Order: sequence, then C-alpha cells, then structure tokens
Amino acid sequence: MPRFTRIRRPWRNWDITALRRNLGVYVHIPFCPAICSYCDFLKFGPRRPKGLDEASYEATLMSEIKARGAWLTQLLAGSGRRVDSIFIGGGTPTMLPARDLARLADALLQSFPTAGGPVEFSCEANPDTLDREKISTMHDSGITRLSVGIQSSNDRLLKFMGRTHRWRETLPVLEQIAMGPISNYSFDLIYGLPNQSSANVANAARDLLAFRPPHISAYWIVAEPHTAYLRWTRQFPRQIPSDQRVLRQQHDVECFLRGYGHYRYEINSYALPGWECHHNIRYWQGGDYIGLGIGAASRIGKTVVNNAKSHVVWHSSIDGIGGPRDALLEAALLVDPQAAAPPADAFLRMRNRLGPERSGMAIKPGWITDGLMDIHEGRLEVSSRGLNLSEQYALEMDS
Ligand code: SF4
Repeated sequence: MPRFTRIRRPWRNWDITALRRNLGVYVHIPFCPAICSYCDFLKFGPRRPKGLDEASYEATLMSEIKARGAWLTQLLAGSGRRVDSIFIGGGTPTMLPARDLARLADALLQSFPTAGGPVEFSCEANPDTLDREKISTMHDSGITRLSVGIQSSNDRLLKFMGRTHRWRETLPVLEQIAMGPISNYSFDLIYGLPNQSSANVANAARDLLAFRPPHISAYWIVAEPHTAYLRWTRQFPRQIPSDQRVLRQQHDVECFLRGYGHYRYEINSYALPGWECHHNIRYWQGGDYIGLGIGAASRIGKTVVNNAKSHVVWHSSIDGIGGPRDALLEAALLVDPQAAAPPADAFLRMRNRLGPERSGMAIKPGWITDGLMDIHEGRLEVSSRGLNLSEQYALEMDS
C-alpha cells in the first residue's frame, strides 16, 4: 500500500526525457457488457456488427501485435529507445477471460522492444468483470496497473449512467483490489450529473478513498454527440447543474483528495506523488506511441495515424504493416526514428502541471500574477486553477 508522502511540486520529478525518448503502446478492446448513456468511445455492447466477436477480434489483434512489434523492433534497433508503457483500454478489456488477457499481455511484452527497464502496464477494468483469480492472472502476466471504472457509489446514479454494476456488489472487488497483488490502481469518478448533490460527490470520493487508491481520475460528465445522455439533456435542460455548481464539486473533490496526499496533475487526474500514469503523461508531453486495434491512434513525431474503425477494413490492413501503403511507415520516414520525439504542442502540455518551454510563447501578465501559472527554469508550470483554463490559453496564444 503506498505511503502518504507530501512532496512539493512533484511534477518536477517527472522524467520527461524518458517519456519522449521511449514509446508507449495502446491496445483497444471494444467490447462492453452494455452501453453507458454518456459514452462516445468506440465500443460495442451485446449488439455487434456482423462477424465481430471476441475470438475473431483477438486473432486479428494478435496478428497486428506480432507484425507491428517486429516492425517497431527493427525501426528502433540500435537507438537505445524502447517501449516502457503499455495501456489496454476500451471498451471493457476485462470482459475477456483471464487466460486471453494473459495471452495478450505475453504477446505484447514479447513482440515489442520492452527489455532494458521497467514497463508500466495498465489495463482498464469494470468492477463486475474482475475477480481475485483474474487480478492474480493479470499480475502474473506482467500487468502492473489497474484503472477501474467505478464512477459513483450511488446506485441511482449508476443506473442513470447505464453502468452494469451496483455499489454494494462492488465492495468485495474493491477489497480484493486493495489487497493486491497489483498495488498501482486507479478508480474513476464522475461528477456534474443531474440531481447529484455536492454531498453525493464528496461521499463517492470518500467511499473510493476507503480503498486507498494511489490514483483517481475524476471527470466532469460531458454530453457528447450521439449519446443517450445528450438526448436526455435536450429533453430536460433545467436539470443540468450550472457550471458554478459543478466547479464547486470539482473543487471539493480536489480538496478532499489533497487531504489524502493526492495532487491534481492533469485536468482530470489526481495521484500520490510518484503514482501518476506515465502512459498518459506521455500523450500530453509529446512522446511517441503505437495504437493497436480498431480506431486506435498512433503518433510518431508530429504525425497522428488512426487505425480503421471498421473491423473488416482493420483486419485487411494487417498484411500491409511495414509495406509501402503503411501510414505509420510514412510517418516514421518524416522523422529520425532513432531520436526522441519532439515536444507536444503547447495546448496538449497545458493539460498537465508541467507546461511547455516559456521561450517564444505569448504569456499574458495576468496568467502569472493571478496564480494560473508560474515559470520555473524556463518552463511554464500550470496551477490547479490554471488547468481549468488550458483551452482558453491555447486560443489566446494562437490569436
Ligand atoms: S463501460 Fe466504458 S467504454 Fe463501455 S460503454 Fe461504459 S463508459 Fe463506454
């Protein structure tokens, strides 16, 4: 169990050089037991496109892992660069049986150039698809971090969101997670829901913290296009809480978590110092990553390439990996694959506490004097209050 240690400005300990020198791998598992009302991810509930099932998806994924892993190993040979973070997301990856997750983990660790140091290996999970045996198998197969979608400890709200678990049934799973053997785990929390009181948000944070997670992701619910939640908000607009009310809830969550040693290191992320998700920091700081599975994004240098969203098109693309029509090969030709990735654009880096280099940036004096950001060793550092304004900075910097 991680210890509570207060460290001043923990983001100054992030190893940005390693995050940009090494690479991450993201794997998308698009299956879910049901569809949540607010979800706009690429996922499928019980009704799926013809020909798409777990077995065929996993078979194609294994082929992609082997082909892309061999390609990347060759590309990076002799560079000293390696893969040091893997993230299996979705969807609900833990819908797969334990032995399939183990096979997947093994193929990833064997096929990609991971040797030479530790690998942060995360897997997203829903509590009703986890049990002791699965956690133990995941741990034995190299998975080092769990990210669990709890969202609330209130059954009325869980039902409203379309979640398949209920709080009381979740408790034994949370106890199991807290007992290990995977000591690095994160719980998701959602606030800003209609008819969700501030007390309810605080209760959910308290209920989750009883299991001592070293990391919490807390999200302000957003009515995304084409979701049931958006349709609901259009039908009942007066039930949507005001921004001021939700900002208060966000502030309360932050204060509460701070009392447990967590600091806010990104718009939606809180962690004990040293327990931040390095894979996600890599996204915001500009590191390279390879995406596997339908719709998964990869970034090499400044080029982002997306896999096809159709499983049929994705399946037929696997044979072309490393060939003349491989978009990722084209992206790799634009940069020196032996060299570290360039820094991300300012907007992305403003999402977390360690912002971009100050030189050449138009900084408005008020941003510093109002305590929204600071400058340390030529670099911007964004305060927690400043994180809420990162979009605004980007717009004003460009104008
Ligand atoms: S479990 Fe996650 S990915 Fe699946 S529908 Fe719900 S929010 Fe979306």
